[in-house]
Amino acid sequence: MCLFCKIVNKEIPSNIVAENDDFFAFHDINPKAPVHILAIPKLHVDSFAETTPEMMAGMTSFIQEITKTENIKDSGYRVITNIGENGGQEVKHLHFHILGGAKLSWDHLTDSNPKAFL
Ligand code: 5GP
Ligand code: ZN
Repeated sequence: MCLFCKIVNKEIPSNIVAENDDFFAFHDINPKAPVHILAIPKLHVDSFAETTPEMMAGMTSFIQEITKTENIKDSGYRVITNIGENGGQEVKHLHFHILGGAKLSWDHLTDSNPKAFL
């Protein structure tokens, strides 16, 4: 079972932000912005390349709700999903980074010293 499946199953603890029947959101362990949340489907899907329009429809609403409860809807934020080797995907379970709470630079997920942004 992959790391994020274990987090969904609560075999590995996480700081949970939101959860419903199909989706799960938790704080990134290594935040690269004041708000850095990962939103994932409970069903294991390797990446965006394998998702479906149906799954994405639910994910869209789920992410939009989180931006309201986290108070970043009006100030703005970024949603990123990395895909495969060139995309820099480290965990092979589809996840969307939700980043906000500060003005983001373009290299937020690639800079080696992310704390400099906080
Ligand atoms: P990727 O590079 O695959 O797009 O992003 C994986 C993200 O998962 C990284 O931002 C990393 O900090 C986060 N991450 C990796 N392991 C854990 C973990 O055990 N718990 C939490 N909360 N986040 C994790
Ligand atoms: Zn998984």
